[in-house]
Amino acid sequence: MLRDELYKNGIGMTSQRTRERLLERLFEEGIRNLHVLEAIRRTPRHLFVDEALAHRAYEDTALPIGHNQTLSQPYIVARMTELLLGGGPLDKVMEVGTGSGYQTAILAQVVERIFSVERIYPLQERAKAVLKDIDIRNVVFRHADGNWGWPQYGPYDAILVTAAPAEIPPELLGQLADGGRMVIPVGEQEQHLMLVVRDGEEFIYQQVEPVRFVPLLAGAIRS
Ligand code: SAH
Repeated sequence: MLRDELYKNGIGMTSQRTRERLLERLFEEGIRNLHVLEAIRRTPRHLFVDEALAHRAYEDTALPIGHNQTLSQPYIVARMTELLLGGGPLDKVMEVGTGSGYQTAILAQVVERIFSVERIYPLQERAKAVLKDIDIRNVVFRHADGNWGWPQYGPYDAILVTAAPAEIPPELLGQLADGGRMVIPVGEQEQHLMLVVRDGEEFIYQQVEPVRFVPLLAGAIRS
């Protein structure tokens, strides 16, 4: 029990200093939203990776989470969250690509409700368990191909996609509320993070910066 508690808090594996250094680094890299920085400070990232990688959880690097997928580096998680929040507070947010659930955990602390879609069932199950463990309750999950979004609860004030399509799926654009914002990596060999803002029937596209994400794939799988 004591060991479990200590592990949950990250004691003995990562000093408070290591975590503070990560925040300093994010600030140096230009992350300014204090809600986002605070969410990162509070969230035990080591719980979202395999125990063998826990000692690297507070480095600003991407880490493998199995099934050929990766947990994005903290800078990218922070940047995407900050961009999503750029238009003001958000109520309903759809996330495509739950993965480890780390990005979900950060987002869950700065928006009201999240609808998170993941195509790989075991990843989703693990993310659900970790989020429950750290008391995050404003997320609902769907095991499905996120190319189609989650129309039942749309339109969404914001959509965050954490895997890269060659082109933005039209169904996702269709589920964005008027004035809503989507942050999504787009491209194949060369990818860019894009911010899309909906204005009535028009979409305004802004290319933010080059990124490297796993591809947005088709279909949902059980294992
Ligand atoms: N945000 C995640 C990182 C995810 S890696 C984290 O913080 O850990 C990208 C994730 O997108 C993977 O889990 C992958 O399975 C998922 N994914 C890829 N294509 C998808 C699709 N069409 N629908 C839903 N999820 C998808």
